[in-house]
Amino acid sequence: MNRTSLVVTLCAILGLLGSLTLSTMKPLTVPQSNESTIPMEATGLATSPFVTPTNRLTPAMPESSPNNMQSPIQPFPTLMWQQIAALQSQNRFLYTGNRYLPEVALTFDDGPNPYYTPQILAILQHYRVKATFFCIGQQVARYPNLVRQEYSDGNLVGNHSWSHPNLALLSDNEIETQINLTSNAIQQATGVRPTFFRPPYGVVNTKVLAQANLLGLTTIIWSDEARDWATPGTSVIVSRILRLAGDGAIILMHDGGGDRTQTVAALPSIITALRASGFQLVTLRQMLNDVPERPASTQAPISASTPTPPPVPSPDSSSGLSPVVSSTP
Ligand code: ZN
Repeated sequence: MNRTSLVVTLCAILGLLGSLTLSTMKPLTVPQSNESTIPMEATGLATSPFVTPTNRLTPAMPESSPNNMQSPIQPFPTLMWQQIAALQSQNRFLYTGNRYLPEVALTFDDGPNPYYTPQILAILQHYRVKATFFCIGQQVARYPNLVRQEYSDGNLVGNHSWSHPNLALLSDNEIETQINLTSNAIQQATGVRPTFFRPPYGVVNTKVLAQANLLGLTTIIWSDEARDWATPGTSVIVSRILRLAGDGAIILMHDGGGDRTQTVAALPSIITALRASGFQLVTLRQMLNDVPERPASTQAPISASTPTPPPVPSPDSSSGLSPVVSSTP
């Protein structure tokens, strides 16, 4: 076993242990997938899921577009279900867009990747589709030109942490560093500081939500995915996504973190079929703009009409440490 394989295996084991630990800590939610597989995507990116780039810590850069950044909710609740409710009341924590509009958002995580990202960008250009890329900071620093192209093509670029750890296992400072370093790198590449954030694996806890709130970020999970990281085959990826697609769906795919050949091959069929079904393909910015404002008095969580509904905050979850655990990337 060479060194890379060893690191990959070690990361997978550590990640599994972390998720299992969190899962036993009074899980608040129902995972969106009934599979308990640790995604492949995380394994090749960081030397360890617990390592944070403290030696590269730099102060947050000034926001170039402060109007897009949300002010922190204050006071911010301490219990997680209350935090989620507070964020949802301001449309800052979403699993879906407007469930009554035929809009679908394609999102690509774990890039940029020098091989797959240009192919995905070319397909999006060909079909005149705008999508959203949740980038890993390390990859942004390595391939800033790809992120610049994502942005200049009209796509939205979001923050997916620096090294793709399970953020729920990190300290407040480490979480802040993971997010801020990534926003810095994206801002350096595109000139615009990201306002959208997707935690790796869709995992959050009170610390992650508090940091996202403090940093003015809008947290986006997803309602529809094909587990493309498991390379189930191009036709399976297409059919899974189409089966779950509906009004306001946020579709999770990957342009980095592993072999994405099948994702690239599936994309034209996905775009064509979604359009044939009457869906408009939009960025998360567009989708968020089209979500009705939700007054604080109607803090019911957004629900997704998928066979496996997304996590729903439960008042009986009294532990502020309970994470939202998703078994998928
Ligand atoms: Zn990811």
